[in-house]
Formats: sequence, structure tokens, C-alpha cells
Amino acid sequence: MKVLVINAGSSSVKYHLYNMPQVEVLAHGVVERIGEERSELSHFFNGKTHTVKKKVGDVGKAMELILETLDDRDVGVIQDFSEIGAVGHRVVHGGEEFTYSVNIDEKVIAYIEKFADLAPLHNPPNLAGIRAVQRRLPDAKQVACFDTAFHATIPKVAYMYALPYELYEKYGIRRYGFHGISHRYVARRAASIMGRGKYNINAVTCHLGNGCSITAVKQGRSIDTSMGFTPLEGVPMGTRSGDLDPSILFYLGDKGYDVKALKELCNKKSGLLGISGVSNDVRNLVELAGQGNSRAQLAIDIFCYRIKKYIGTYCAVLDTVDAVVFTGGIGENAVFLRQQICTGLNQVGVRLDEETNKKVVAKEAEISTKDSRVKVFVIPANEQVAIANDTYELTRCEQPIVSE
Ligand code: ADP
Repeated sequence: MKVLVINAGSSSVKYHLYNMPQVEVLAHGVVERIGEERSELSHFFNGKTHTVKKKVGDVGKAMELILETLDDRDVGVIQDFSEIGAVGHRVVHGGEEFTYSVNIDEKVIAYIEKFADLAPLHNPPNLAGIRAVQRRLPDAKQVACFDTAFHATIPKVAYMYALPYELYEKYGIRRYGFHGISHRYVARRAASIMGRGKYNINAVTCHLGNGCSITAVKQGRSIDTSMGFTPLEGVPMGTRSGDLDPSILFYLGDKGYDVKALKELCNKKSGLLGISGVSNDVRNLVELAGQGNSRAQLAIDIFCYRIKKYIGTYCAVLDTVDAVVFTGGIGENAVFLRQQICTGLNQVGVRLDEETNKKVVAKEAEISTKDSRVKVFVIPANEQVAIANDTYELTRCEQPIVSE
């Protein structure tokens, strides 16, 4: 059975077509710069690359282009759309409603629409992808895998803000957490590498990409995570501030910043970019810091310091910790940052093998010393495989699988 995995954002749609249950990638690609004059599809199949440059107006059009390409006589990998038995979608916000991946029906769609209020940049393109599949592949089953679902097991003591309780009741203001598909995937991989069952691991998982979040996983389930009501909370990220004293925003409001400007400031102009003043990309910052750029160095230092604080906090929250896992573009590649983050964590039982760490780039490996009480792993993010597996499982049974 072929399963198509779709990750639709506001300006790009990524796709992977799998042969299941072998998890064999038949083709994958991305449509980028959606809505701009020069949109581009990059399609990878049978070791070859195919590129299409033309204006793609919206996510629906991007989906049409992807499906046409998959079915194309020359560059396609299917003969007929009927070969695609199911489509799995990454959906960012499932509110409190979805604690696992689900088969999509009109009721689920209504909830995704409702939660667009909480994720206005993400749920609408996710929905546009679902609608496009309904139009073009009416017989394919569709599955929604929520970024929030893995965090549904976080207890109330960790998800409530110390705000008036009515705000939770009236507006759903609470911590939801994100990157759940990734945290779940790497926690389960770590358990598997350690020869344990998926519910037999306590871990701190660090997803460090453009967005960054840290999760405390107890017995295979999320019990706390650094992102909150929105992905803005937690550690500093490429352009997001992470945790702040909210009074800073009131103070800036008094100085003339309006809500739009404050949103822009915290989401787009802060984090590594804001501190360094030059880049949100760790590769550039490491290079510039090496050339003596002190603000690039400061950005790296703050980033590592704040991640270390979260790891320490989560070690306190978990009774015992079996593993710390690094994933995401930074977690998988940035050797020196991993070292800096782990320095001083021996107190909690983490001992990095510095030589091994230096050799591990974009591959799965253990990077702790033999005698480290807490194992440290690098595990490449693979949300699409997690979605393909959930989709395949769900289309074979009517009951939703529990993915907490
Ligand atoms: P996304 O969260 O959008 O999926 P990624 O997980 O791909 O993003 O992470 C992108 C970030 O990873 C980049 O902004 C960059 O900071 C970092 N990165 C990617 N490759 C490297 C590398 N070789 N060395 C250091 N950092 C890297």
C-alpha cells in the first residue's frame, strides 16, 4: 500500500510517498515559495531530481502540482491515483481534543478549523492540504497527526499558567506544546536503541531546528515541554525569543509598540538573530564567532545556556533519566553546540564522549562515554516516517491508535 505524507505550511508543502509497511521512500519533494511569482517544485525519485519553476498561488495548487508530478508519465512513480491508499497530514494544533492521530472525517475537519484560532499560521494550510486531497483523491483515507497530541499526557500542574483560571475555561489558555511527532519519534527510537519497550524510558528530548523545544518524557510519555500556548515559549530559537518576562511587552507597549509590532519582534526578530544582529543560522554564527564576532558568540552562549537550564530542570522533574536525545538541524549537526550544552551536566549523570561527538553529523549515534549514567544520543528527526506509520496503522483499523 502506498501512503503519501504531507507537511503543508503557509509558504511550502513537503511530501513523501512511501511503500508501506516497508517504509520505502518512492519519491519525495517540496514546493517552496508558494504565493510568490517564482514558486518551485523539487521532486526526487529513483535517484533523480526534477524541478518545476512556475507560480503556485496557494497550498491547494501546490497539492495539485505534487499529485500531477507523482502521476507524471516521465517523472512520476505511480500509474494511477488509486494506488495511493492513504494520505497522512501533519497538523499543528489539535487543541485538547486530539490526544492521538485520527482518521479524518468532517468532525475532525471542523475541529482543525476551530483550532485555527490557536494556530492561525499553521492549521489553515494544513486544512487546505486535506481539502485538496478530498477533491483529487476522493477514495483515499486521510489521517491527521497532530503536533500537540504527544503532549496530551502533560499533567495539569505542568500545563496550567498561573493566570486567572477563567482564562483557561473561556479561551483555552494553557500550555499545549509542539513538535510532538518529533519528540515521540526520537523517544521511541532511543528506547529501541537501548533495547527497551517504548513505555520503558525516561528521557529529555531536545528538538533543535528553526524552532526549538525540549520535552521531559517519563515512561515513554510527555510530562512537560518547553513550548507553551504557542511555539514562542521556551528556549531561544532562530528568530523567536523563547521565555520572557511579560512585563517587557507592557513596557514596550507604553513606548509605542503595537500588538503587531510586538508579535513581529518576538517571533521574527529575536532569538539567535536578535542577539547576534546578523543571522538566525547556527552555521553562520559558529563561523562568525570563530572570526571573533562577539555578538555571534553571545547568541550561541545564551542559546546553549538556556537549553542546559531546561535539561537540568527536566532532570529534576523526571525521577531518573535514561537518555538525553538531540535532534533537528542543530541537534543533529552542530557538534560544538552539543558539547557546550552538555558541559557541566555531569551533575545529572551526563558525560559526553567529546571525540565521538565530533564525528557524529546527521546520523544516529550514541555520543556519551561508556560510563555515562545517562546515555546521550543523536537521532535524526523523521516526522514523516512517524506519520507514515500512524497513517498505515490507522487505515488498517477503525479505532484510533493511542500515540501518547
Ligand atoms: P526546521 O525546524 O525548519 O525543520 P531544521 O531542523 O532543518 O529546521 O533546522 C534548521 C537549522 O539547523 C538551521 O537554521 C541551522 O541553524 C541548523 N543547521 C543545519 N545544518 C547545520 C550544520 N551543518 N551545522 C550547524 N547547524 C546547522
